[in-house]
Amino acid sequence: MTDGANNGQRQLGKLRRVVVKVGSAVIAGNGRLRPKVITSVAADVTALRAAGLEVVMVVSGAVAAGYAPMGMASPPIEVVERQAAASVGQHRLMGILSKAFKKHRVHVAQLLMTPEDIENRRRFISARHTLQTLIRRGVVPIINENDALSDDENKVGDNDHLAALVTGLVSAELLVILSVVEGLRSDGGAGPVISQVEIGSSIDHHISHSKSVSGVGGMHAKVAAARLASHWGVPTIVADGLSAGMLPRLIAGEPLGTIFLPREKRLSARKQWIALRSRSLGSLTVDEGAKAAIIERGASLLPSGIRAVQGHFSMGARVDLLDLEGRTFAVGLVSYSAHDIDRLKGRKQSEVRDILGFEYIREIINRDDLVVL
Ligand code: GLU
Repeated sequence: MTDGANNGQRQLGKLRRVVVKVGSAVIAGNGRLRPKVITSVAADVTALRAAGLEVVMVVSGAVAAGYAPMGMASPPIEVVERQAAASVGQHRLMGILSKAFKKHRVHVAQLLMTPEDIENRRRFISARHTLQTLIRRGVVPIINENDALSDDENKVGDNDHLAALVTGLVSAELLVILSVVEGLRSDGGAGPVISQVEIGSSIDHHISHSKSVSGVGGMHAKVAAARLASHWGVPTIVADGLSAGMLPRLIAGEPLGTIFLPREKRLSARKQWIALRSRSLGSLTVDEGAKAAIIERGASLLPSGIRAVQGHFSMGARVDLLDLEGRTFAVGLVSYSAHDIDRLKGRKQSEVRDILGFEYIREIINRDDLVVL
């Protein structure tokens, strides 16, 4: 952690396009939308646009705004109740957003996305074209997950993650996550806000696992989103969304909240695509030798280094690579199915043909299909 900013100001470089994510807890409290806060966010976004920036929003709050009108006292736990609440809350949310932007003569558009819209190349490109067209026409796209139709098995999950995916989708240069927390605090949330963090530095002990009542993600999800955004070479700022005027101040370089700076170089388009697929279909636990070879030498994953296979997946699926402590350190596309990998794990290269009756390729995951996180 360093405070590398000049005169205390952050240098954000030339910004053209920004993704702004607003969390449920900012948008709604106790099952009611907060029109005042939404009005002030709309004014802030309008100020960015006036400064020449293109803004794409990811706004949560469908469930948070939907459960009270359905007669529930607290956010529902049961999946189908959440889906129903989201369908009540989503249009209420858009109603207030659209009214707030109308004051500034700005039109908004609603896009409700599912994991398939990211994973399926064709839908991905289609979403990108729609968003580009909206931006070109001066409309503010407002994205949420299609919560009403997504059960838990098939869900992006938290909107911090969705916002990071959208940042890649629209090739934005900055992701801003507006939350009810002021930023990443040191000492597990008890200390002061850390102004700047480099992705990949030892920040994990600062991450508090607590969540706001209506929020889904918590700080853990925000750091994970920042990590994902760093794959596109994009910084992420987490800041207080309840404070009016926050966005223009951030864009002007005021060191508010926490900025997560990408350290690594931008990934190649192919590796971005692998990292971008919204979820893994399973995981492979590998030994220390394989982990070191992958991280330090950029090696491929061979059968001998694999200890365990989790999940059912076929060839080409994205899986997480876990170390022996269960931490995900890479993702990659497998060259064999879960069933075949299970038979090959721990075995020598030369045994592959004997075990399977065929040998398709030497590596379980080729280095070109691996992304170290
Ligand atoms: N999509 C959910 C909603 O709008 C929120 C997910 C999140 O807050 O991360 O209610």
